[in-house]
Amino acid sequence: MGFSVHLPTLIMLSVAINLMVGSLLWAIYYLRGRQHYFLLWALACGAFATGSLLAGARAFVDAPWFTVFMGHAFLGLSPLLLLAGLERFARGATHRIQQPRYLFRVTLAGYLIVLFAVFQSDPLSARLLTALFSAIIFSFAIYCLAFSASQPALPRRILQILFALHGMLMMVQCLVIAMNWMGISQANTDTVLRLVLINHTLLATATVLVLPLLAFTRSESQLRALAEKDGLTELLNHRSFFQEGIRVFEEASTNGTPMAVLMLDLDYFKEVNDRWGHAAGDEALQMVARILKNELRNEDIIGRIGGEEFAVVLPLSGEESVRAITHRLLNAISHEGANVNGMPLNLSTSIGGIELTEHHHSFSDLMLQADSALYRAKNKGRNRVELGDLMPLPIQ
Ligand code: GH3
Ligand code: MG
Ligand code: MG
Repeated sequence: MGFSVHLPTLIMLSVAINLMVGSLLWAIYYLRGRQHYFLLWALACGAFATGSLLAGARAFVDAPWFTVFMGHAFLGLSPLLLLAGLERFARGATHRIQQPRYLFRVTLAGYLIVLFAVFQSDPLSARLLTALFSAIIFSFAIYCLAFSASQPALPRRILQILFALHGMLMMVQCLVIAMNWMGISQANTDTVLRLVLINHTLLATATVLVLPLLAFTRSESQLRALAEKDGLTELLNHRSFFQEGIRVFEEASTNGTPMAVLMLDLDYFKEVNDRWGHAAGDEALQMVARILKNELRNEDIIGRIGGEEFAVVLPLSGEESVRAITHRLLNAISHEGANVNGMPLNLSTSIGGIELTEHHHSFSDLMLQADSALYRAKNKGRNRVELGDLMPLPIQ
C-alpha cells in the first residue's frame, strides 16, 4: 500500500486538538454554573491527550510502565469519562446518585487490573485490551443514548453513529492484532494499525466536538419551552397562542379553508379557590388542560390565555364539528371535574365559539367574537356553549 503518514505529527496534532477542545469544555464548565458533565468531558479530552502522548513516546523511551501501562490506562479512562459525562447529562445536573460513581470505579479498577496483568507480555496486548474495553464502552454509550429520548435528537443520532463507527474500528483493531498473533496476514498489519490509529484520532476528535452541540441544543429547547409554554399546564402561553393563531388564520384565509376559535372560562372558579385552596385550583386547571389535550387533535392549538381562561384554534373545522367538539369538552369537564383528587369541586366551564367568515380580517376579530360568545354563555347561566357572531366587528 502506498500509504504513509508521519505518526508523531498525527499524534501531536490530535493531542493539540484534544487539549484545545478540553480547555473549551472546561471553560464552559466554569462559566455555566459548573455543570459537571462538561468537567467530565473536559477530563476525557485531557485523558485522551495524555494517553496519546505517553503511548506515542514508546518509540523514543524504553519505559513500558510509563508508555504502555500509564499510556493505556489514560486511553481507557477517556471513553469511560465520556460515558460518565453522558450519563450525568442524561439525568440532569441536579440529582446525585451514588450508583454510577461506584460502577465507574469498579469498571476502571477491573480494567487497570487486567491491563497490569497483560501489559508486559506482548506490546500489542495492551492495545488489544484498550480496543476491546473502548468498544464495550462505546456500545454501552449507544445503548444509554437510545434510552434517553429527552435528549435533542440530531446530536444524539450523530453521537450514536460516531460511537458505532468507533466501536467497529476498535473491533477491527482487535481482529488485526488477533490475526497477527495467529501468524495470519503479518505483512500488512502495521499499515492497517496505522490506519486504525488515524481514524481513531479523527473519531475521538469529532466526538468531543459534538458534545457542546448536544448540551447547547438541549438548553436551547428548554429555554424555548420556558418562553412558549405556560408553566402550570404546559399549554401554549398567551403570546405563542396568538402567534400560532395568526399563522393558522393566514393559511385559512389564503386557502379558503374553514377554521374555528373557542374560548373557555371556568365557572365560579374564584369560589373553588376560596373553598378548597389555591393548590386545589391549580390541580383543577391542570386537569382541564389534560382534558383539552386528550379530546382535541394534534393539529389543534391549545393555549392558556389567562388565569382560568383557555382558548383553542381548530384548523379545518366547520360548524358541525365545532358543535360536536364543544359539547364533548363541556361534558368531559363537568364529568371529570365533579371530583378532582377526592375533592367535590363540581367544575364546569362556559364556551364561546366562532367560525371564520369573509367578514373576519384578522385573528383578533375571531378572538373578539369568541369572547363575546363566551360572555353570552356566562350571561345565559354558564356550563353551556354559545356559537356565532352577534358582536359587530370594528370597521376596517
Ligand atoms: P365566572 O364564572 O364569572 O368566570 O367566575 P369566576 O370566579 O371564574 O371569575 P373571576 O374572574 O372572578 O375569578 C377567576 C379566578 O381564577 C380568580 C383567581 O383566584 C383564579 N385564578 C386565576 N389564575 C389562577 C391560577 O393560576 N391558579 C389558581 N388556583 N387560581 C387562579
Ligand atoms: Mg375569567
Ligand atoms: Mg371564570
